[in-house]
Amino acid sequence: MPCFSQKARPGLRRRLGAAGTVLLLWLACALPAMATDTIVLKNGRRIVALSAVEDGDKIRYQTDAGELSLPKSMVDHIERGTVVPMPESRAASAANMGITPPAMVASAEIEKAAVHDGSIDRNYLAQVEGEARSGSAAANEKAALALHAASQFELLRGDLEHALTDERTALTFAPDNPVVLMNVAYLHLKRSEYKASIEYLERARRVAPDDPEVAKLAGWAYYGMNKPDLAVAEWKRALVLRPDPEVENALAKAQRDNQEEANYRENESSHFTLRYSGAAEPDLAREILRALEMHFSAIESELNYTPPDSIGVILYTEQAFADITRAPGWVGALNDGRIRVPVQGLTSLTLELSRILKHELTHSFIQQKTHGRAPVWLQEGIAQWMEGQRSKDNAAVLVQVYDEKQAMGLGQLEGSWMQLTGPIAGYAYAWALANVEYVVRADGMGDMERILNRIAEGSSTEGAVQEILHSSYDDLAQATVVYLRKTYL
Ligand SMILES: [Zn+2]
Repeated sequence: MPCFSQKARPGLRRRLGAAGTVLLLWLACALPAMATDTIVLKNGRRIVALSAVEDGDKIRYQTDAGELSLPKSMVDHIERGTVVPMPESRAASAANMGITPPAMVASAEIEKAAVHDGSIDRNYLAQVEGEARSGSAAANEKAALALHAASQFELLRGDLEHALTDERTALTFAPDNPVVLMNVAYLHLKRSEYKASIEYLERARRVAPDDPEVAKLAGWAYYGMNKPDLAVAEWKRALVLRPDPEVENALAKAQRDNQEEANYRENESSHFTLRYSGAAEPDLAREILRALEMHFSAIESELNYTPPDSIGVILYTEQAFADITRAPGWVGALNDGRIRVPVQGLTSLTLELSRILKHELTHSFIQQKTHGRAPVWLQEGIAQWMEGQRSKDNAAVLVQVYDEKQAMGLGQLEGSWMQLTGPIAGYAYAWALANVEYVVRADGMGDMERILNRIAEGSSTEGAVQEILHSSYDDLAQATVVYLRKTYL
């Protein structure tokens, strides 16, 4: 049975019909298969996409790089395609480049003393730090190794914040140790803090000029900073020093970017680096940059967060966008946080494009604020809220689905939505928005900000919701339905 079909909103109610259909479709779609849709633009161009969903004035669709959207006004129609089997690893492999942290020649004895029984022995760390302060080089090295072991443990648990704190403390005991320097740089990279990362890599390079790991990580940093030429140079250098499949993949990706962007122009504003094809209108590029800066200020104050580095934005025209977004295993091989916007056929900034920009920019903020830990439902809920979407017409069907005990749990909506198709994806967007809308309307964006902070610190999302709102996921869903009923029905 086909796992896809038409639009999401505003006609969610009509198509979902009996709420039971939701569950049926959900089960059918939970198979490792994916619906390929073809989005046919008015200019004749065709974009092969996954799970294209009509959402208000735009079309959203999934790619390996994550969710993308384009203004509906550019779209002529969508051809619903065939279900193609997808290897399960693809979405997973796209999520992260999987570069491994630089390895330290460690002492098993110190490692075991620093981390045992599933936790870090802070008493031991305090003891070796104390010994190091009083003196010898050996004591300093021991403290650095113990803290490095603690940092690695935290990294494995996804707690980047504490991993970085411990690795930086390790560095105070071994300021010229290239592996510690590189690990601090690595953790900054994982947090999308590219400039900070480069500072440590430069220090590492002074100590170990021919270490291939330095060049490898520097390439990643430059790539994230939207300097693909420098990234390519670093990765080529790394490969000369030592063959490495991780570097080969990254280099291929960067070269493809370079090739595509060879004829691009570049504009910069305080928070953005915008690249666009020579075929795009320079006026449009300037308008987009102005809109992005305006949205940046708004989101910055709402989420009380400023992304540390310039955010890359690429405007695509013509075939480029389709080529790049459909390339499996290539896009998203690096979490570079770039906003990729198709602007084919546009000459000035439309309201819908402005909304798309704000939506996608919100994703960049949340991604960086939480170091990539925010679940999809929260990402999509907040992004929709920020761009100005409200539950409105969807309230009735969301309530109905809930009353019939067919609502999807937020826990189910934490991971990738790549396998949600057609009406289910539409339902997921609407339900995510409703929950976020309820939280923001009830207590303001402050609560949302605190939830994101907890997630950034390593909490699970439900744990963060519990702590800040004193609600479980089930409580939140119930309160959301009460809110929808009161507000819209
Ligand atoms: Zn989105």
